[in-house]
Amino acid sequence: MSAPSSDAIFPVPASWQRRAWFDNAAYRRDYQRSMHDPQRFWAEQAEHLDWFHHPTRIRDVSYGPEDIHIRWFEDGVLNASVNCLDRHLLERARKAAIVWEGDDPAESRTLSYAELHAEVCRLANGLKSLGICKGDRVTVYLPMVPEAAVAMLACARIGAMHSVVFAGFSAESLAGRIRDCDAKLLITADEGMRGGRRFALKANADEALKRCPSVQACVVLRRTGGEVAWLDGRDRWYHELVDHQASNCEPETMNAEDPLFVLYTSGSTGKPKGVLHTTAGYLLAASLTHRYVLDYHDEDVFWCTADIGWVTGHSYIVYGPLANGATTVMFEGVPTWPDASRFWQVIDKHRVSIFYTAPTAIRALIRQGDAPVRATSRKSLRLLGSVGEPINPEAWLWYYNVVGEQRCPIVDTWWQTETGASVIAPLPGAIATKPGSATLPFFGVEPVIVDEDGRVLEGECEGRLCLRDGGPGMLRTLYRDHDRFVQTYFSACPGLYFTGDGARRDKDGYFWITGRVDDVINVSGHRLGTAEVESALVAHPEVAEAAVVGYPHPVKGQGIYAYVTLKANTQPSDELRNALGQWVRKEIGPIAAPDQIQWASSLPKTRSGKIMRRVLRKIAAGDTTDLGDTSTLADATMVESLIDGRRTIA
Ligand code: ATP
Ligand code: MG
Repeated sequence: MSAPSSDAIFPVPASWQRRAWFDNAAYRRDYQRSMHDPQRFWAEQAEHLDWFHHPTRIRDVSYGPEDIHIRWFEDGVLNASVNCLDRHLLERARKAAIVWEGDDPAESRTLSYAELHAEVCRLANGLKSLGICKGDRVTVYLPMVPEAAVAMLACARIGAMHSVVFAGFSAESLAGRIRDCDAKLLITADEGMRGGRRFALKANADEALKRCPSVQACVVLRRTGGEVAWLDGRDRWYHELVDHQASNCEPETMNAEDPLFVLYTSGSTGKPKGVLHTTAGYLLAASLTHRYVLDYHDEDVFWCTADIGWVTGHSYIVYGPLANGATTVMFEGVPTWPDASRFWQVIDKHRVSIFYTAPTAIRALIRQGDAPVRATSRKSLRLLGSVGEPINPEAWLWYYNVVGEQRCPIVDTWWQTETGASVIAPLPGAIATKPGSATLPFFGVEPVIVDEDGRVLEGECEGRLCLRDGGPGMLRTLYRDHDRFVQTYFSACPGLYFTGDGARRDKDGYFWITGRVDDVINVSGHRLGTAEVESALVAHPEVAEAAVVGYPHPVKGQGIYAYVTLKANTQPSDELRNALGQWVRKEIGPIAAPDQIQWASSLPKTRSGKIMRRVLRKIAAGDTTDLGDTSTLADATMVESLIDGRRTIA
């Protein structure tokens, strides 16, 4: 088996050039326009939204060094829920807005645009009856059920900010996020369902609320019927709250720069940041990228597998698709339950045409082999997307060959909670793809690569990825911590937004994300991105997943320490360990060969599925007294077994 060549190019299929929104010439022309005449370009794009008052002031952006401010469409007035609901009622009232697929394959539910509109209005009226007003914060701690989207849109309708907290988080993590934004109300459920198991939500909420004096009321959705404790005066059943409410609710008039939501980042690198997004710029970025990068057309069924608790769920389950009048699939379950065919079964069941998932899910499924995929049809699919981490060329090729049967282009979309929407990604009708590259910037986005001293590099180069402009979807601040906002994003490279990621630009101007800058390994003065070494390891036929970190090495400064998860039926052995060393040596060069390889049955990940290398770094260094903030870790027990495994190596 040959290793993937990073030079492989997948041209735009001829049929796509005709059908997609942009061909190559059109992309280049509009990208140039967005750079050279942003006021005009974005004034035109703004017409994709429905306004109560159209904006005349389009773009007022400064990334410093002195003044840092980001304002878009400043004098425009609109409401996000009107854009996602009301404006579709004339033509699409009976079209499916949300197709919900339950954890149990026998359960599904469809809400038309008319039904979703009514549900949102009822809850909006209910929230008002509880005293929630424009500007208040509402924390949403719900499983993947339509009511989660309803809650977000109901907040948007009355001008309250939502803060969605992933339902897998503990009471402590929930409390921290409620307190950080002083939420007045919490919306939760009795329990959630995932992979055939129930998990407690109300019990966690009760625990959290002991430490959250700002919360005056707790609205509880009945999802499983499981038993819950009840605090009279504070707790309200969701169904009782909405039952007698009118199915119409006058939308609040919102200024373009009024806050829409606050959302905490995954916490891969440390304490989560309360990213604040405002109304118009965010909504436009989410809907335009959903239309152009994910190539949404009217007849599509769109499925993004992210959780609503992450920005990907916000932008590509709720705001982007609904603003475009799309049918958006919402999935409560997991990819491997009841069996490893589940994703593909759901695609067949709902005739999904555009599918958007994360490398972590793809790698988990690769581990199960091709048979669970081949057992399904997937004929409805025409486009595949990836987001969340660098996608290794090997995983990219499997996604392309096995899942998409070489018929579906792949869009690898690089972005962050902070950017609100995709910022580096191919437009599938315009840009030839290369496995492992997020390719080229979206309209209005100007990425630059700088060296360690902050000097801008030109042409083919590698360094730190910054943005001179990130477009209208950029965060406006960190909630109530503007100093941290300036410090985190604008102090490393004055005048630029620093992403925290490293990147390489190749001869075609394509961007390759090399991993987080914090994760770069310096071996005898050579800087190596984690993504590159991990991709080489994953390209080996026996390897399912790999995480690479640096550790103190007496000679080289840093040595390379690799944690390797093998495919389902492969046994670890010293021969394999040696073979992997040789393999990387051949793929990248002797400098990248791991000094240590530790077998790992699984890797520590954030709850959004990202490998937490900072914890692995500590373990590799044998320094496990303080692992830092691990509240966003999905499975803390596995860390113990990695620490044990480390002892056998040392
Ligand atoms: P924190 O900022 O709290 O450490 P986080 O960065 O994991 O958490 P997110 O905003 O959810 O929080 O993730 C954004 C990051 O995910 C990016 O900065 C990048 O490192 C990674 N990422 C997302 N998409 C891609 C992609 N297509 N290719 C490479 N990396 C990606
Ligand atoms: Mg980040």
